[in-house]
Amino acid sequence: MKVTEIFRSIQGEGPYTGMSAAFVRLEGCNLKCTFCDEAKVMRELGFLVSSEKLYEMIDAMPASQLIVFTGGEPMLQQEELTDLIKVIHERGLWGNPNPTIQIETNGTVELLPELSYIYKRKDNVKQVHFVVSPKSQKDYMCLIDPSTYNVTLKYVVNEDLTVRMVHNVMRKWPWIDCYLNCQDNDFGTWMPRVMEILAACTGTGLNIRMGTQMHKIWGEMKLNYGG
Ligand code: SF4
Repeated sequence: MKVTEIFRSIQGEGPYTGMSAAFVRLEGCNLKCTFCDEAKVMRELGFLVSSEKLYEMIDAMPASQLIVFTGGEPMLQQEELTDLIKVIHERGLWGNPNPTIQIETNGTVELLPELSYIYKRKDNVKQVHFVVSPKSQKDYMCLIDPSTYNVTLKYVVNEDLTVRMVHNVMRKWPWIDCYLNCQDNDFGTWMPRVMEILAACTGTGLNIRMGTQMHKIWGEMKLNYGG
């Protein structure tokens, strides 16, 4: 697998905010968002590692509550990532037979049919949680179907995101959790739009809420391992 860095920190956004997490940042992305936080990191040289070796590296890190695959776009390395997730399902992590697995994705990479069974929503707790952040340059598409997979949506609120777009998506999947994060935590500029979207969606019982990139408030807290 092509890995940019692995590190341990506290998840700063989305449904697992505040949890101790091991992060694996996979190299490469299929998009070029102007506001990308990771552009600098993604230009730095990563390293190549097998799924088995990466499992050992993660398991050797201090125990966490959560494993997060991020990027870049982790689903570009779907085959290798699936191999790694299978190992985690078989052996657990840090002595925990069933660690929470989160994948942060832009939602534009289709799941390969032969691998999709690993990711499908299941009755037992061994399931992968996709946190999908759809992007304007792909018309906010989400190819990971929330009817089949465990999906939370997370939108960057900026000039591109419209009330109608979010409302249409929320009406299509009314059970889904959705976060609205102001671009660059710029609350002064983007809070009016957050309020507009919340007003349009919450009155109809949709599960949408304001999010914050807490790690940008907490500051740099990561401890590097490898990479
Ligand atoms: S999809 Fe994410 S990682 Fe890729 S360019 Fe956009 S913000 Fe950056």
